[in-house]
Amino acid sequence: TTTSSATFLPVLERIAEEISHTPGRGRPADYIPVLAARDPRSFGMAVAEPDGTVYGVGDWREPFSAQSITKVFTLALDLAREGDELWEHVGREPSGNPFNSLVQLEYENGIPRNPFINAGALVVTDRLQTRTGDAAGVLLDFLRAESGNPALDFDTEVAASETAHGDRNAALAHFMASYGNIDNDIPVLLDQYFRQCSIAASCADLALATGFLARHGIRADGSRLLSRSQAKQVNAIMLTCGTYDAAGNFAYRVGLPGKSGVGGGIIAVVPGRCTLCVWSPGLDERGNSVAGVAALDRFTTLTGLSIF
Ligand code: GLN
Repeated sequence: TTTSSATFLPVLERIAEEISHTPGRGRPADYIPVLAARDPRSFGMAVAEPDGTVYGVGDWREPFSAQSITKVFTLALDLAREGDELWEHVGREPSGNPFNSLVQLEYENGIPRNPFINAGALVVTDRLQTRTGDAAGVLLDFLRAESGNPALDFDTEVAASETAHGDRNAALAHFMASYGNIDNDIPVLLDQYFRQCSIAASCADLALATGFLARHGIRADGSRLLSRSQAKQVNAIMLTCGTYDAAGNFAYRVGLPGKSGVGGGIIAVVPGRCTLCVWSPGLDERGNSVAGVAALDRFTTLTGLSIF
């Protein structure tokens, strides 16, 4: 971290100051007790430059539950291995329904709308599990390498709590299995998926780990994970599906590929320029961080950076 290349630090400082005066932060996720206990006043925001420089404001080094943000990385890791065959098992259209919805699966023969709703993420994790034998482990290794933080790990308390309250995800997995769209035994798949969701990481870690999407598919060590075209595809799906049934509003307000999680984090990509991660645990009714969306909205307004 060097101050001279911390180009956007004054902008981040201004945003943190504005956010600190904004009332109405939403409510932390309450489907598992560990998430409900987080303080909605927490706020952190980090920017990572393509060269690996990272800086931030507020609680930007505080680990939080990455949750659905991890769906971006499992998608990239699976696409890198199987390529377009994946799209025979999961679609690429926004769902317009909540992230944990079951309804479209019956009309669409067990093929989920996109990889970022829970049903689609279960399919991606299932396929990565078949290819690697340890989807969550491959994901964790990738996040450690890209963030440069070997201390990143699963949160066993969160994973156990997800399992204890996992009926809905189990229902999604069983329903898709009835259409032949799940390979692995359901308990194996759910264990992989819940451990994936439980990974604890900070804004700094996740902004750095997202860097390959700003570098058009190139990893932190210079090797290629995705083709330039595949990196564009992942960014496009983040724009259209990354914030569930609020993706239209997110594109309207922020104008960047983004992916949220119910832990209150959101990652965003300015292709070719930088990546961001913002965290604040209070969510709106669609499951997106209220202060997180507001902060990214201010970032693109103040800097003029967006993909449009
Ligand atoms: N673990 C959560 C679930 O599967 C992840 C959802 C999310 O972050 N939107 O319900």
